[in-house]
Amino acid sequence: MKRIQAPRGTYDVLPHLADERAALERTAAQILGRAGYGRIETPVFEATHLFARTVGEATDVVQKEMYTFADGSGDSLTLRPEGTAPVVRAYLEHGMHKEPQPVKLWYLSSFFRYERPQAGRFRQFWQIGAEAIGSADPAVDAELILLLGELLEAIGASKVRLVLATLGQPESRAAYREELIAYLRKHEDQLAPEVVARIDLNPLRAFDAKHEATQRVMADAPRLIDRLPQEDLDHFAEVQDLLRAADLAYTVDTTLVRGLDYYTRTLFEFQSDALEAAQNTLGGGGRYDGLAEAIGGPPTPGMGWAAGVERMLMASTQSPPTEPPVDIYVAYEPAHKAAAFRLAADVRRTGGSARLELAGRSLKGQLKQASRSRARYVAIFGDEGVQLRDREGGEDKLVAPETVMHHIRGRL
Ligand code: AMP
Repeated sequence: MKRIQAPRGTYDVLPHLADERAALERTAAQILGRAGYGRIETPVFEATHLFARTVGEATDVVQKEMYTFADGSGDSLTLRPEGTAPVVRAYLEHGMHKEPQPVKLWYLSSFFRYERPQAGRFRQFWQIGAEAIGSADPAVDAELILLLGELLEAIGASKVRLVLATLGQPESRAAYREELIAYLRKHEDQLAPEVVARIDLNPLRAFDAKHEATQRVMADAPRLIDRLPQEDLDHFAEVQDLLRAADLAYTVDTTLVRGLDYYTRTLFEFQSDALEAAQNTLGGGGRYDGLAEAIGGPPTPGMGWAAGVERMLMASTQSPPTEPPVDIYVAYEPAHKAAAFRLAADVRRTGGSARLELAGRSLKGQLKQASRSRARYVAIFGDEGVQLRDREGGEDKLVAPETVMHHIRGRL
């Protein structure tokens, strides 16, 4: 029979990887906790509408990448492809607008997108995310950007750069889009065929084209930033002032685009040259002042980011945590198994770490396991009693089984 394997684009979190993730989680909890962010966990699935209305009907995520299914009562549910819409849903559902604003939340959760699997791109992946809901102050944007910068620095992510942009409000964006489409149509004969094919679908992509003639045309193309109302420009200027005040270096790229429709005003990404170009974004986010209304709530400003756990671990230069040595390894001759079993249980009950032989090895084999586990003590149960060895020096002692705890306690 063909052996059953994990679905494509998924992976198992084996113990060594779990340790690495736990360390990342602790770092994130510390950095975000210090800034007043509380942890939130939302359900793995949500009503499909939640994502269709916020992420955007025309985006790749909603068009092609959602795991959508009908449950027993025929309701359409979707495995969460991102974390912002669920968190804003929870904010509205639990009346968090009554708390002091902004409400600051963070999460470490798994997300699901039907994407083409490759290095740094999975179908089930994990993100650390942070959201601040209920304030339009540019300081919220700057603080959140700074916090992701701090996290990436703390894990030693290499070759990181911060890119900023601003989108303004949906109205100015829509008007600009029309203007850009008209400009591209006028210069269609000079553009690369793949750019022409996507003029109506995604005109902004033309700015990323490698094709030389296209680049010449795009050098004179209208830019969104020149079409934004003063209040949007002021907001963006203040975000930048605050980042400079905190000594965070960045570049502005007015052509930055992200795959989710809900963004307004500030948009940013931390990219790393340590990763392949197609998946070099460690994390990013932006402001989403229209999102709460899109899911039926009152107008509520918000700002947040998400960073990929897999990509952060790939870019991290921190050495993975090593397993701490074991307090005691309990070896035994077969006749003394129950007494040995009991000692291991007693040690663990009092908070120590113990390993017991569990595979019927010979005494020689057991001693090999003991040194592999870097155990401080080895207790060998035999007919004469228990031979107790302190691997940090001292002679072997022969002691009575019931006194082993007494001999090792206080020294661990
Ligand atoms: P997004 O939610 O698309 O803004 O993505 C935020 C971050 O999540 C990205 O910068 C990646 O680090 C990570 N990410 C997004 N999609 C995937 C995926 N399919 N596999 C692994 N990481 C992902």
